[in-house]
Amino acid sequence: MVSEKMYELGSKKSTIRELFEYGKKQAAIVGKENVYDFSIGNPTVPSPACVKESIMEILETIDSSVIHGYTSAQGDVETRAAIAEYLNRTYDINVKADNFYMTCGAAASLCITLKALTESKENEFVVIAPYFPEYRVFIEAQGATFKMVPADTKAFQIDLEALEKAINANTKGMIINSPNNPSGVVYSKETIQKLAELLERKSAEYGHPIILISDEPYREIAYDDVEVPYVTKYYKNTIVCYSYSKSLSLPGERIGYILVPDEVENSKAVYAAVCGAGRALGYVCAPSLFQKVIARCTGQTGDVDLYKKNRDLLYENLTEMGYECVKPQGAFYLFVKALEEDSRAFAERAKEQNLLLVAADDFGCPGYVRVSYCVEEAMIKRSFAAFEKLAASYKE
Ligand code: PLP
Repeated sequence: MVSEKMYELGSKKSTIRELFEYGKKQAAIVGKENVYDFSIGNPTVPSPACVKESIMEILETIDSSVIHGYTSAQGDVETRAAIAEYLNRTYDINVKADNFYMTCGAAASLCITLKALTESKENEFVVIAPYFPEYRVFIEAQGATFKMVPADTKAFQIDLEALEKAINANTKGMIINSPNNPSGVVYSKETIQKLAELLERKSAEYGHPIILISDEPYREIAYDDVEVPYVTKYYKNTIVCYSYSKSLSLPGERIGYILVPDEVENSKAVYAAVCGAGRALGYVCAPSLFQKVIARCTGQTGDVDLYKKNRDLLYENLTEMGYECVKPQGAFYLFVKALEEDSRAFAERAKEQNLLLVAADDFGCPGYVRVSYCVEEAMIKRSFAAFEKLAASYKE
């Protein structure tokens, strides 16, 4: 009576959501201040002032039928032009309004792009572990095949040898995400350059372009002046999937975009297919009010230093306690090696201390847990005794 696949997806909560719900129940029993919930990636830094100011200005100066009305299917041309102008100025690229399709956040950007590119189940999309678990859902839901490349657990960059082995004649594209959820690592310029060389060589070998989908919701959340290379400058067949969920702390407003630069092979056809996929999935006309807000807030972000403070606090204290951590250069996640091989068992044991850590098995990287630090600083400080007890329990 219903799609078995959709039933399965809808009936099973993600590990992160399950843990988040558990945290709420546990808080009712032991008190909110005694639960250390590092499960979910909901931005805690307030949106920059320009968001509220723009909303007020829009409400006061624009006719309500325009504010709340339909926009063009691909989004307001003024918004797309403002984003193009900002990106050209910031990254020295050359894009225009017509290269953009406004969406309901990165999830929609990815689903639309994957649908636009997928011709049959033979088409494979490669992802690099550790990866955002929804990638598998998005790829399979568009009728394509998911292919994982194991993590480079030394530097958490890309294992290019393993990637080369994973690419074959059926490879349609791949997804990268930097700054990365869950490792916090930023792919270096060297990694992106080597990746571009490999994809160019493989595209030539198989006689079709391998499309690089760059999923970038954390682009601006980067620390210590680390460079986050603008991927379209290194590999011409790149489509950018962007979201304002994290940079402007607007995850509930559902706003982002897809950028199909002119340099992409058959870019006009790819852009038309993006419009078609948006239409087929019902993702036309992204939220109108927030398109207008974005036009006024390009280049703004929440206070990234607040996340950096949390990063430093957690990284320094956990490392001192003996935990092996990947030092995050961006996003708001700390990737920690579990104190036993089975990371699910480790996360279960952490729950005994009311520490909610996500086992990284679902991110394709067993043996680690993800600690999401977009949380209150006071909770991080309160959690240290629990981290100490957890470590001590492995020494008994
Ligand atoms: N991609 C990554 C790597 C994410 O971490 C997330 C959300 O956490 C998304 C995509 C989805 O973002 P959005 O809220 O914009 O749909």
